[in-house]
Amino acid sequence: MYNGLHLSFWEPPAITTYRTRLTPEQIDHIDKTHIWHPYSSFSQSTPVFAVESASGVYIKLYNGQTLLDGMSSWWSTIHGYNPTYITQAVCEQAQNLSHIMFGGLTHEPAAYLTQQLVKLTPSGLEKVFYSDSGSVAVDVAMKMAIQYWQAKGQPAKSRIMALAKGYHGDSIGAMSVCDPVTGMHHLFKDTIKQQLFCAQPQSPFNGPFNPADLTDLKAKLEHHHHELAALIIEPVVQGAGGMHFYHPQFIAQAKTLCEDYNVLLIADEIATGFGRTGKLFACEHAAITPDIMCLGKTLTGGTMTLAATLCTNAIADTICQASPGVFMHGPTYMGNPLACTAASANIDLLLSSPWEDNITRIEHALTSGLAACKQLNSVNNVRVLGAIGVVELHDPVDMPTLQPLFVEEGIWIRPFGKLVYMMPAYTITNTQLATLTQGVYNVLTRYAARLGHQATPNQTPINQAPFDAHE
Ligand SMILES: *Cc1c(COP(=O)(O)O)cnc(C)c1O
Repeated sequence: MYNGLHLSFWEPPAITTYRTRLTPEQIDHIDKTHIWHPYSSFSQSTPVFAVESASGVYIKLYNGQTLLDGMSSWWSTIHGYNPTYITQAVCEQAQNLSHIMFGGLTHEPAAYLTQQLVKLTPSGLEKVFYSDSGSVAVDVAMKMAIQYWQAKGQPAKSRIMALAKGYHGDSIGAMSVCDPVTGMHHLFKDTIKQQLFCAQPQSPFNGPFNPADLTDLKAKLEHHHHELAALIIEPVVQGAGGMHFYHPQFIAQAKTLCEDYNVLLIADEIATGFGRTGKLFACEHAAITPDIMCLGKTLTGGTMTLAATLCTNAIADTICQASPGVFMHGPTYMGNPLACTAASANIDLLLSSPWEDNITRIEHALTSGLAACKQLNSVNNVRVLGAIGVVELHDPVDMPTLQPLFVEEGIWIRPFGKLVYMMPAYTITNTQLATLTQGVYNVLTRYAARLGHQATPNQTPINQAPFDAHE
């Protein structure tokens, strides 16, 4: 009401509860009708389970079931779900500043996180670019490498080389450096840049290093260095391309070769960063500093989306000293204060925990717990590295059959292609790990029996299977 000099402002109604929540039936209906899921179809529905809440290593479904989580929501929830320390830090920050544009403005949460990242990552990575997701962090890394060579007066160096069977994200740029066969290049071939690919290293992480692993890399560098801006690799663990573990010596040698041929090295640590492989960053296994490093996934402990691309002073200085004099990227939500706060709290929590002991403990538990799976006829290979356990089957899984079996068993595992794999929270207990690995064994046994009883197993080839590439 306007009453003379006294302006009365509209005030929102007092909120006691945020709003009335949808029923499980409503959620299910809306989801099936309107919502895309990762690599999903509206016509071939695979089951989607509605989550009511999650805490620690347990996911609670609306149907009352509780699932023991083996996935850490794709590498992210390393302290389990809803870690109080991070949640409280974020709530506190939300009272003060949830978001502000990063163009021309800065803030304490970004400064604090940057200080942490510069200190923790391999020495020499001094400049940090924040973005919203892993794929964008990879695009940013590629743009940095390309702008670097333009600034050096070598614009022909604009292609990126990647390893076969790699995965770097789903955006148009990141997709171009994913494996050309499984990475959906055939669908978008007129839109994505034709990059260069070299052979996947075969020497196992713990075995002897075979120098033949470097032959193809060396030959491609020799022939193409004049047009190559960078080599991008997932150090030690290739994730979504097949959960492949390889020898750190390959990374050390690749770094030297890249230097010899004037090609930058981009380490995509989006999956491997923050302890998962037993080192804080997988590059440490090879004791190298890449020229550019991408971080994402568990950067915020699975509470919010945030990614970072770090580079050396040499790269930043070169870009900034030549036309156009700036690095050409700037997301709207760049350096979001809530996400930076979540990331800092996540890192504090990780560093104050006995994380190295936890990774070793989980590695042992997964190794012994999954050993029984080797006896199954359907299983081709079982491998463990750090807090990552992989059971590779002979055939791609039939998701509509297999996924509900895991849920019936009370565990959350999301296979893709031929791979049944897990990367639990670092906080998971030994008892919970035993339940998880026994559950995997039980489910694979029942799955084999179920398939054995089908006249024609309903198996789709990997390229057409509704698989999730985010792993
Ligand atoms: C998941 C992942 C990405 C992409 O991250 P998004 O946040 O899904 O865009 C890139 N690289 C690697 C190695 C990944 O595991």
